[in-house]
Amino acid sequence: MEWLSDEQRFSAIEENLKIINEEIAAAAIASGRNQQDVNLMAVTKTVESRFINHAIGCGIKLIGENKVQEILLKEPELNLSDCKAHLIGHLQSNKVKKIVGKVETIQSVDSVSIAKEIGKRSLEAGITTKILLEVNAGSEESKFGFSADELFERACEISGIDGVSIDGLMCVAPICEKEAEIRAVFSNMHRMFIDIGAKKIDNINMNVLSMGMSGDYKEAILEGANLVRVGSAIFGMRIYR
Ligand SMILES: *Cc1c(COP(=O)(O)O)cnc(C)c1O
Repeated sequence: MEWLSDEQRFSAIEENLKIINEEIAAAAIASGRNQQDVNLMAVTKTVESRFINHAIGCGIKLIGENKVQEILLKEPELNLSDCKAHLIGHLQSNKVKKIVGKVETIQSVDSVSIAKEIGKRSLEAGITTKILLEVNAGSEESKFGFSADELFERACEISGIDGVSIDGLMCVAPICEKEAEIRAVFSNMHRMFIDIGAKKIDNINMNVLSMGMSGDYKEAILEGANLVRVGSAIFGMRIYR
């Protein structure tokens, strides 16, 4: 949408959100739930603040950024009085101190050591930080996240760390050719979400199942996602500078 005027981009965002909200409602109902049971996060990496604020004006209550530096830069320009921000990208331990207290939830916790660092910095700040455990749901070499095999054991270790509270699971699904393949990945995530929640372990709450992006959010909802992270379908193709 780079070649469009700001006005045209504002109306495209509005139009896109209308369509996405309708599709979320339809998929939620098809999975036996209501639209209100599924939260839409607008993923705002590379998007300029005026367009993010426009999406917030259209009713977006949750935004996601991948990079600590980018959140900190944009935060002063955003209308966040009625909108929360989450970190959804891989976090390095030297950036933890900067991000703790700036976001409601860190969705991309992919090791025990990063959870320990988040706990330590949260305690220093006098807060508890909500985290999601990132799962490498497609067992891809190139992706961050816990393997399905180790997830429960690592969750138990992390549950004992002061200053963090496990609030659910997230994944970035692999690119699949067939719908049945991606549905199976999401269904497997949902099963782990339910199984771990059923164990009722102290400091492990399975409230949030964050999965599904622009290309696969409908399939994710059909398999039980209650938070979808949508970027390009709202804001247009990303241009990396
Ligand atoms: C970029 C990104 C998204 C959104 O991707 P789109 O395909 O543009 O919807 C969602 N989750 C994560 C972790 C991302 O990095």
